[in-house]
Amino acid sequence: MSIKVFLFHRVNPHPDPIWPPITPGHFERIVKYLKRNFEVVPLEETLLGNYKPTKSKKLCAITFDDGYRDFIEYAMPVINKYKVPTSIYVITDCVDSCLPPWTYLFNFFLLNTSITSLEVESIEIPPSLRKNNWKNLEEKIDLIKQFSPILKTISDEGKEDIMQQMQVQITDVEMPKNLMLNWDEIRLLKNEGVEIGSHSGKHPALSKDFHLDSVRHELERSGKEIKAAIGKFPIAISYPFGIYNSQVKKIAKEVGYKMGLTVLPKPYTLNDDHFEIPRIELYSEPFYKTRFRMNGQLQVLKNVFSLERSIHPNR
Ligand SMILES: [Zn+2]
Repeated sequence: MSIKVFLFHRVNPHPDPIWPPITPGHFERIVKYLKRNFEVVPLEETLLGNYKPTKSKKLCAITFDDGYRDFIEYAMPVINKYKVPTSIYVITDCVDSCLPPWTYLFNFFLLNTSITSLEVESIEIPPSLRKNNWKNLEEKIDLIKQFSPILKTISDEGKEDIMQQMQVQITDVEMPKNLMLNWDEIRLLKNEGVEIGSHSGKHPALSKDFHLDSVRHELERSGKEIKAAIGKFPIAISYPFGIYNSQVKKIAKEVGYKMGLTVLPKPYTLNDDHFEIPRIELYSEPFYKTRFRMNGQLQVLKNVFSLERSIHPNR
């Protein structure tokens, strides 16, 4: 038996030229489609064996990463209307600070500033990106799209340094407010049956370059903080950007998680490794494409034509 685990981030009607959220209407079409074609199951309870599917339909689960507040405003009404279970994975530092993850902030500051140049001193980024200027929005968006995937791969200290350099130069943009769920809201969601898990403490890429002690610290402290807030250590860790390796999996298990979620467009076969559960990310795009992703045809087409798998730098 297999289960398709779908991944969402933001659901709201506000346009974003870098990382468009899924609109509430698109989200409702998705949930309606899933409800009609699958049995939508609670991911963690099903994998733990506590929830028994009816077996009359294919299985799928709905998950959200990052913990944006638009989940309450735009996703929950649809989730409640169609009575489907869902799971959400929060970044504990973002809950504490009420600020979005650095991936969002980097885009937000650059998009909203009126300055037209940015200098970054860092040996960790290519020389071509250290002195930048742009003449219009298109050029600025191009720059953000070049920068984002590189920031994801550099050291944590290097990234924080670059974020600070950026904030020193961009003084005409205020921190975005009220974008993230707070602990009271997370407790309310838990009481409504939403499964709450960890998406780390500060959203680092847990790649081979990330120190193992830091991996342990990230996974353990975020789990403990969630336990302090909602009363139980989270069942699952969602690896930031879906990045993990065998040591990350081992540490996740050691600190107390029962499963780990990544991002790969394929179903999860029950009883496969619980620490590399693939999830199929869904995007803001025409509905027929989303339908292809949900029923697996897009992957088949991509395999046939050897098209590059799309990896979104903001995940
Ligand atoms: Zn994330």
